[in-house]
Amino acid sequence: MALEGDETGAWRERARRWAEQELAPIAEEMDRSDRPPSDLTRRLASGGFLGLGQPRAWGGGGESTRTVAAVLEELARVSSVAAVDVAVHLSVAAAPIARWGTEEQREQFLRPLLEGRALGAFALTEPEAGSNAAGLRCRYRWDGDTAVVDGVKTFITNGGVADLVVLFATRNPTEGRGGITAFLLPKGTLGLRASKSFAKLGLRGSPTFELTLEEVRLPRSQQLGAEGQGLAIALEALLGGRVGIAACALGVARAGFEELQAAAREVPADWKGPLLARSFVELEAAAALVERAAAARDRGEPSRRLASAAKLFASQAAVVIAGRAVEAWESPAGSRAARAERIYRDARVYPIVEGTSEIQEMILGRELLRPEPAPAKVRAAGDK
Ligand SMILES: Cc1cc2nc3c(=O)[nH]c(=O)nc-3n(C[C@H](O)[C@H](O)[C@H](O)COP(=O)(O)OP(=O)(O)OC[C@H]3O[C@@H](n4cnc5c(N)ncnc54)[C@H](O)[C@@H]3O)c2cc1C
Repeated sequence: MALEGDETGAWRERARRWAEQELAPIAEEMDRSDRPPSDLTRRLASGGFLGLGQPRAWGGGGESTRTVAAVLEELARVSSVAAVDVAVHLSVAAAPIARWGTEEQREQFLRPLLEGRALGAFALTEPEAGSNAAGLRCRYRWDGDTAVVDGVKTFITNGGVADLVVLFATRNPTEGRGGITAFLLPKGTLGLRASKSFAKLGLRGSPTFELTLEEVRLPRSQQLGAEGQGLAIALEALLGGRVGIAACALGVARAGFEELQAAAREVPADWKGPLLARSFVELEAAAALVERAAAARDRGEPSRRLASAAKLFASQAAVVIAGRAVEAWESPAGSRAARAERIYRDARVYPIVEGTSEIQEMILGRELLRPEPAPAKVRAAGDK
């Protein structure tokens, strides 16, 4: 029965059932082969996840942040690959188009994303610009009403797979944050190439690409927001995404805890009791932080402190708890131990993506020096 009541509880139960039925049977294979099933996007769409929390006017479901967080947690508990797909698609691909797009852009690009007919990606990171997003070098120039873009983007989730990429490029790197503009880059655009695919420690099965852009021509109608507003758009999307990534990390922490508990029961040892106790406290604390951050966002309250705190704490809890589960199985042989190892490897991504732990500490430290919580608007600095 749904303890949270109403929308959030119902969606949580639905997502949990769906994940057990649809994701549990394929999670190990995605990890082993480092490849998702070719119809993963279609499956996620059929689960109703690709429009969650987005405006109804363009095909979204309009659910609360709490509901989206609950769904991401349940998906990540079974498969980080699916959860990260949905989190990226919703919060850093669809949400900025919903917020900053023109009516035409929303019809042409957002509606297919929210109706599950297309998958979205987000391309900010570059080989020389990760945490310091303001230092990006992917460059555009205007040729009449066409932007001509050249550069390299790296570590792009679904970069070579997604139907639409929200891309960030600069007019001139010397202009810093004020030179950065966002563009909508559809798959198959001439000059766009997935130039490298990364083999990762974890999140195997989630395609991570380097994208090379050579003389990519984008009409002005595919500029998202105003010229020079790109970094503000990116940082706002990342702020929105932070609670989602925290919720994914919480799902992984929960999966790790379940493994730890199973190992402590099946292979008993005195030292496992305190590990369970510590993990339980950390798991519940992470859940409370995610809930607080999501609820604050739903109420329209300033949520930057809580979002950073939730992302920081939940991602560390995921790594630590999953690591204890690996230890608690004692022997690496056996399918349960292998599952714990996969969860541990998957957990390692969460302290990195959408702003590393050090960057969250920096954001939080800066926020806590302010006399009052900052109003919920885009940040002034260029750190993710
Ligand atoms: C699996 C995966 C998927 C990803 N998907 C996407 C995606 O879809 N789109 C996208 O745009 N990006 C994506 N990324 C990139 C991700 O956002 C970056 O890796 C992250 O922002 C860190 O950037 P970086 O790797 O360049 O590390 P760096 O910024 O070089 O940081 C290296 C280390 O230095 C620390 N550090 C950096 N600056 C400071 C500072 N000022 N103070 C203290 N410590 C500091 C960092 O915390 C980190 O520990 C993905 C990454 C991974 C691993």
